[in-house]
Amino acid sequence: MKIGVLGAGQLGRMLALAGHPLGLSFVFLDPAEGACAAPVGTQIHAAYDDTDALGRLCGAVDVVTYEFENVPAAAAAYVAEHRPLFPGPKALATAQDRAAEKALFEKLGIPVPRNACADSLEALRAAVAKTGLPAVVKTRRMGYDGKGQRVVRNEADIETAWAHLGGVPLIVEQWVPFDREVSCIGVRGRDGDCRFYPIATNVHRAGILRQSTPAVDDPLQTLAEQHTHKVMAALDYVGVMAFEFFVSGDRLLANEIAPRVHNSGHWTQDGAHTSQFENHLRAILGWPLGDTGLRGPCSMLNLIGDAPATAALLALPGARLHLYGKSAREGRKIGHLNLCADTPAALAATLETAAAQVEAASRG
Ligand code: AMP
Repeated sequence: MKIGVLGAGQLGRMLALAGHPLGLSFVFLDPAEGACAAPVGTQIHAAYDDTDALGRLCGAVDVVTYEFENVPAAAAAYVAEHRPLFPGPKALATAQDRAAEKALFEKLGIPVPRNACADSLEALRAAVAKTGLPAVVKTRRMGYDGKGQRVVRNEADIETAWAHLGGVPLIVEQWVPFDREVSCIGVRGRDGDCRFYPIATNVHRAGILRQSTPAVDDPLQTLAEQHTHKVMAALDYVGVMAFEFFVSGDRLLANEIAPRVHNSGHWTQDGAHTSQFENHLRAILGWPLGDTGLRGPCSMLNLIGDAPATAALLALPGARLHLYGKSAREGRKIGHLNLCADTPAALAATLETAAAQVEAASRG
């Protein structure tokens, strides 16, 4: 079977690495030169809205998916007419727009931070009056890793935020003084069967994920699964979906969904019985879903900007290194390190050493 993937970044690369043992091969469509999935499949170099290239992709594969959610809606619609496309265009359209996402969460009874949309400076002032200060102004579309966001702490910041972000549709959210952030990675098959991984606690800095650690028995597991299940069912979703939440006491506030495999699920490669990448492929191919259970204590550290020497990382007990074949550059995700251990205490000990090394080498 041949899988077409819109996007050829590290998520595409890891999808292919998980698919090769299942006898799958991969064709990627991505305009970037030197894309990091290119060595593990065939890359069509073209813009996402190049209909001729989309036609060639569809002609070469059995099923199409994405590893990048900012694919133009028209391109997704074109692909869906020619090949099975999972997740479908409705899920993609919802996840591309923070306002549409929040409207869906609210319709499904999932709590969200106070929020309001704004298309002008006056509307932005009115929106901040509704959410209260401090607030976060975000572009409704195309944001990732904290890009397209400004924190607003006082009246003067509103104009600064408008100067930086204005001109495109915006959404304002109340600043949530969260206790922690968690994500629930769910997978839904073509037949509607759903599985959920243990929820992970995520640490971000400067809007970029640094560390994800799944829990064996997080008290918020059931609630997170219920919310994720509702959204997947409403979107008639097929594949892996990530749902990010803010935790306040025993409450979950919905932040956003990603209609794809997700950075906070990379620990599943070594810490779960079936990785998120394999389960995404199983789901879109209509195959039985794999066991999402935890194999043992584990954690993931992102390598941002630069990384310690490979030999130093491999010397850590229980370390599994995943490099993406990217050159070092400030703020760029160039790989991640999964740490697995037999006991929580052993994991905590290695994690402390590893995190110090990773932090010292990182840039951005
Ligand atoms: P996002 O791209 O919306 O996931 O935002 C990236 C990160 O910025 C989140 O994971 C949080 O750490 C932080 N953040 C975003 N929105 C808020 C908010 N409304 N309140 C507090 N922190 C936020």
